[in-house]
Amino acid sequence: MTFGRRTFLAGAGALAASTALASPTKPRRIIDVHMHAYPAATVFDDPIVNPITGKKSPIRTGADHMEACIAEMKRRNVVMGVVSGGDGDRLKAAADWHDRDPARFIAGAGVRGSDDTPLPPLDVLRKAFADGSIKVLGEVTSQYAGLPLGDPKYEPYLALAEEFDIPVALHTGSMPGGTTFDACCRTARARLGNPEYVEEALNRHPKLRLNLMHGGWPYLEQTIAILMLYPNVNLDTGALAWLLPRPAFHGILRQLVEAGHGKRIMFGSDHMFWPDAIGLSIDAVESATFLTEDQKQDIFFNNAARFYRLPIA
Ligand SMILES: [Zn+2]
Repeated sequence: MTFGRRTFLAGAGALAASTALASPTKPRRIIDVHMHAYPAATVFDDPIVNPITGKKSPIRTGADHMEACIAEMKRRNVVMGVVSGGDGDRLKAAADWHDRDPARFIAGAGVRGSDDTPLPPLDVLRKAFADGSIKVLGEVTSQYAGLPLGDPKYEPYLALAEEFDIPVALHTGSMPGGTTFDACCRTARARLGNPEYVEEALNRHPKLRLNLMHGGWPYLEQTIAILMLYPNVNLDTGALAWLLPRPAFHGILRQLVEAGHGKRIMFGSDHMFWPDAIGLSIDAVESATFLTEDQKQDIFFNNAARFYRLPIA
């Protein structure tokens, strides 16, 4: 998600008082499939304030942000993260995180395809896929560019991902309030977050593995329709887990699990500028009392390890 550090959802602050759950006594291993890197030299001008807890962060640069994320991952036993580069230097930022801790990070190429954030040259991406420095195509933010994934612009990129067996992680569902009025994103449209729009692309590329980031919420029925028909599609809990009021997030999880898709849900934080959102997101899943221990283990670890074919035992 692209987030201008504004309020995401009215009423989300009501969650603040209920987020301080105790960690489980025996910490489980966790994979976070929805992380974001910013170039090390990025300077954050304003103090970063977590929109849910109101806590101020000492982070001032992209380099600080990376170290704070690693510290939070260690604190909560998040052993691996799939990290997407930020808008400034999309390929390099995520690769830098991988170089900082190769066993912890899988680098993804964040791409958009708008006039002011064009897609990277295909040959650059081909080289990165071939040498293994980039292992995921995502976060793909075609919704911000006002385009469906099936737009011809993305076609050679999907073909390349399929050729190299690279999973694609696509932003789906909603966006922060006011996104379409930002200079960056005048093309952004709510309706394009509907996962129905991925169907033509999936149909043309039957071997493609696709992660519906943010689970396509609020188009949950359409997400379920896509999961039913396309076994190569999973989803993640990015942003939903910590930015939504907890009953709403639990309602989403419950609906997906009751529809039989417990093995398709992957834990993702979408922490953006706020490393503590990783822990908040973990607490949100842990507190879902309707999930069995096995279901939690699938969401936190097994489903991502299988879908992303992660080098982890
Ligand atoms: Zn997103």
